[in-house]
Amino acid sequence: MYLNNLDMKELQEIITQNGFPKFRSEQIFRWIHKNLEDNFTQMHNLPKDLLDYLKNKHTIDKMTIYKRFNSTEDETKKYLFRLNDGNIIESVYLKYHFGESACISSQVGCAMGCSFCASTKNGKLRDLRASEMLGQVYEIQKDLGISINSIVVMGSGEPFDNYENLKKFIEIITSPEGKNLSIRKITVSTCGLIPSIYRAADENIGFHLAISLHAANQTKREKLIPVAKKYPITDLVKSCRYYTEKTGRRVTYEYVMIHHVNDSLQDAEELVSLLRNSICLVNLIPLNHVTEFEGTQSTSQSIAMFYNYLKKNKINVTIRRELGKDINAACGQLRNQSMENQ
Ligand code: SF4
Repeated sequence: MYLNNLDMKELQEIITQNGFPKFRSEQIFRWIHKNLEDNFTQMHNLPKDLLDYLKNKHTIDKMTIYKRFNSTEDETKKYLFRLNDGNIIESVYLKYHFGESACISSQVGCAMGCSFCASTKNGKLRDLRASEMLGQVYEIQKDLGISINSIVVMGSGEPFDNYENLKKFIEIITSPEGKNLSIRKITVSTCGLIPSIYRAADENIGFHLAISLHAANQTKREKLIPVAKKYPITDLVKSCRYYTEKTGRRVTYEYVMIHHVNDSLQDAEELVSLLRNSICLVNLIPLNHVTEFEGTQSTSQSIAMFYNYLKKNKINVTIRRELGKDINAACGQLRNQSMENQ
């Protein structure tokens, strides 16, 4: 069993059921999730019989850095990690004025089929375990000698298509005996799986919710995000209002700006009427070029027009700063390139 894939309660059960005192599970948890130790023999405050038991019966789910790409323009670093089974996943380290951030993947590939996204090119291979989501954060910390203080689950994969593992990942990374990250520092981004939005609202886990919206009407959204056929845009916005009511948290709508696709004045007008009276933020993202998608980035004039129109109509709006442009890679691109080169 992978010990780093267990939350505190599960670890306690295993340790006490095997005749060791409960406090030992807290020590083990601390070694793994606070000290980032992945070698049992280094856990020097554990007695020999417990160490023998751990070595014989358990293991740690490890990943290794396969490649790291360093931006020469800023401090962004993109990582490819190799998992136990040989699969490769992608994560990004971003340095902001407010601290150190990691963008992590939740699945190997993705089943959602968004037209502008490289991650979905070969479909979904499998879900990531909680330990593999944690591993991305821990390996970046160890590699750079820093402490990550915000996480966005916005890399490859649809996190709500891997809900249980996502929930366990959050439970572990916010645990006081471990990294103790504030839930307010975690953002989960979904392409709009409405039942999971209601579930997350009712469970009141409290993470920041981001929606990949990318269009202001149903017809356009269906073309960009196939899952929109199942989950209509007006129902999606309704579910986000519910999320805000239940959690008190403002929802962010991500809007990738694509030249002559979703960046006209009419698009801006439709977006304003869709989001009127919502407590939200719209994040405009200049499109990253993806070989598989013929769309191009909106001009800076269109982005400015869109931004100003939203602002004028009292919608909170930002334009995402493009970090790591020289190691150009919308999520999934580096992984695809590297798989092709293998
Ligand atoms: S944008 Fe997100 S949900 Fe859509 S295919 Fe890419 S990884 Fe999946």
